[in-house]
Amino acid sequence: PFEKSKGQHILRNPALVDSIVAKAGLKPTDTVLEIGPGTGNLTKRLLEAGVKAVVAVELDPRMVLELNRRFQGHPLSSRLKVATVFRFLVPVIYIAVLDCRVDSPVIQGDVLKCDLPYFDICVANIPYQISSPLTFKLLSHRPIFRCAVIMFQREFAMRLVAQPGDSLYCRLSVNVQLLSRVSHLLKVGRNNFRPPPKVDSSVVRIEPRKPLPPVSFKEWDGLVRICFNRKNKTLGSLFKQKRVLELLEKNYKTMQSLQLTQDAEMGEEKMSADDVALLANMVEDLSMETGDEKEDDEMEMDDADMAGEGAASFKEKIMGILQQGDFAEKRGSKLSQVDFLYLLSLFNKAGIHFS
Ligand code: SAM
Repeated sequence: PFEKSKGQHILRNPALVDSIVAKAGLKPTDTVLEIGPGTGNLTKRLLEAGVKAVVAVELDPRMVLELNRRFQGHPLSSRLKVATVFRFLVPVIYIAVLDCRVDSPVIQGDVLKCDLPYFDICVANIPYQISSPLTFKLLSHRPIFRCAVIMFQREFAMRLVAQPGDSLYCRLSVNVQLLSRVSHLLKVGRNNFRPPPKVDSSVVRIEPRKPLPPVSFKEWDGLVRICFNRKNKTLGSLFKQKRVLELLEKNYKTMQSLQLTQDAEMGEEKMSADDVALLANMVEDLSMETGDEKEDDEMEMDDADMAGEGAASFKEKIMGILQQGDFAEKRGSKLSQVDFLYLLSLFNKAGIHFS
């Protein structure tokens, strides 16, 4: 029996499996990472596509057994071995497996908890409950892969590809698109799976940007969080909130006390490996967060005038920066990557930081 809690919905349409593999654009030199091979319908096609290796990570030991049974006696069986590994042993065992010149190991474990091996391309029909942390785990993996072709729940997929002004445009869209180019490949109805899930699905291509934009992800995420706190409020009103002003002023003072001059900071902000690793920790579910559900009252309570002269002038400083870029009346829901990058540069130039 298939386990709902593990998101076990098996692809049962061979034509669909073929088109997913075709869309992946595999090369003979590719090492393919498959997440959640299940009973191996996609695994089989990937092996048959003649790639260098398929590395599969499967949580359920019963599925790993099933995979073994399925590939026994198959012409490719000599290339498929099972390595049972635990969280902290993954790298060690994986190297041992490679030393044995096994081309296609199945790693039994939770993909979110294990260290991923090297891969060029990821092709997977994943359990939907891990969509958001998995996407950021892949994007923070180094060396960076060429491309990922992944089946997601339709709504999650539409959030990934959403553009400014689309109703599903949210922090997830902005953050994933900062790090990669995302395109929608295929719409997949629920009846292509056994048992059918409650939702429709889509296959999406994710191609990491190379190089990554020269921006500190902590800074970027800090700004985007504020702008999407309520994505349909104007930035003018969002940045007037006491909580926001206090945070920015605290950062401002810390920076000043560190005597970092604006000039020294400018141009040095880079997306570091640490920064990107931070992404992997963004396990709070960005997928369903729209930034427009909160009650208005909550914000009005926050939106108090700050006490004292210094606070008032700091607020003016922030409002001045927003006006300088013509942002005060704009809303997060309509801002593009370029707009966010420009806004961040205006803030940073004025010594205002988000982390
Ligand atoms: N790839 C198969 C197919 O297309 O027919 C099965 C896909 S099914 C949607 C998802 C698979 O991922 C299941 O086999 C499930 O056991 C496995 N899985 C669930 N959570 C996982 C996790 N955290 N790490 C690795 N595999 C997981």
